[in-house]
Amino acid sequence: MGCLRVALVHNQSAKSIAVASQLTKLLSTSGNIIDQENPGIVISIGGDGTLLSAFHLYSHKLEQVRFLGVHTGHLGFYTDWRDYELEELVETLCHNQEENVSYPLLDVVIRYRDGRTDKHFLALNESTIKREHRTMVADVYLKDELFEHFRGDGLSVSTPTGSTAYNKSIGGAVLHPSIEAMQLTEIASLNNRVFRTVGSSIVVPKDDWIEIRLPKSMDHLVTVDQFSIQQADVASVYYRVAPEKIRFASYRHMDFWRRVREAFIGDLS
Ligand code: NAP
Ligand code: MN
Repeated sequence: MGCLRVALVHNQSAKSIAVASQLTKLLSTSGNIIDQENPGIVISIGGDGTLLSAFHLYSHKLEQVRFLGVHTGHLGFYTDWRDYELEELVETLCHNQEENVSYPLLDVVIRYRDGRTDKHFLALNESTIKREHRTMVADVYLKDELFEHFRGDGLSVSTPTGSTAYNKSIGGAVLHPSIEAMQLTEIASLNNRVFRTVGSSIVVPKDDWIEIRLPKSMDHLVTVDQFSIQQADVASVYYRVAPEKIRFASYRHMDFWRRVREAFIGDLS
C-alpha cells in the first residue's frame, strides 16, 4: 500500500520528537518512503511556527508539495491533526491523495537604492517593515499611485491565514482564506498635518500591488514570517498576492471560522 514520499519537519519538544519517530515507523512499515529532499508530502510536527519553518524549507517546491500539520501543543491555524491520530493520518494520506485545500501567499520584493539585485521572498503569514532605532517614515503607493505619507513604528502586510497572527495583534481584521487578497495594517501610526494615514487596515485584491517607498536609511528591518532581514539602502518593498499558493493535504480540514472561535474565544456556554 506504500504510495508516498514524505518529509518530516519537527520542533525540538520531546513530544514532537517522539511523534516524528513514531510517524517514521508507521510510514515505513506501510511501505512509504521518507524523502527529505524530494517529498510529495511535508508533515510538520509542532505548532504553527513549525509549519512556517517547513513552508520555508520547501517553498521552492510548492508545485510538487502538499503540507500537513500535526500539533503537539495547542490547536493551530495550520495544524489539523492530533498527535494520537497518527495511524488514521497515514491511512488517510494514502487513500485521499486528491483532497486539497490551498491558501494565498504574499510575494515580497525588496529593491535597493544602490542597484543591487532585488530580493524575492514568499510569506505565509506576513511581512513587516520597521526601523531599528527610530520612527519609520514611508510613502505608501497603491498601484503606482501615492496613497499616503506614513510615519510610525511600521507597516505589516499579511496573507489571509496570517491575518490571525501578528496582523491581529496590531488591530487588523481576520480575513477568510478563500479571499485572495492581502491586508495592509499600520503599526502605531502617527497622524498630524504632514503625515496622514487612513488609520484602518485596508484589504487589497489580487492583481493590485502595494509599494512602500523608504527614504535613505541604514537601519530598516524587513521581516518575512519568522525571519528578519536587516537591510541597508532599501529603496522600496513591493507586495502582491503571489501567483503560487500553498496546498494542504487534508480531507478533514477544520472550518476556518470554527478555528478562529476555538483559538480566540473558546467554549461557548
Ligand atoms: P513565535 O514568536 O514563537 O510565535 C508567535 C505565536 O503566533 C505562536 O503562538 C504561534 O503559534 C502563533 N502563530 C503563528 N502563525 C499564526 C497564525 N497564522 N495565526 C495565529 N497564530 C499564529 O514565532 P513563530 O512561531 O516562529 O511564528 C512567527 C509568527 O509569529 C510571525 O509570522 C508573526 O505572525 C507572529 N508574531 C506575532 C507577534 C504578535 O502577535 N505580537 C509578534 C511577533 C511575531 P504556535 O505556538 O503554534 O507556533
Ligand atoms: Mn512558535
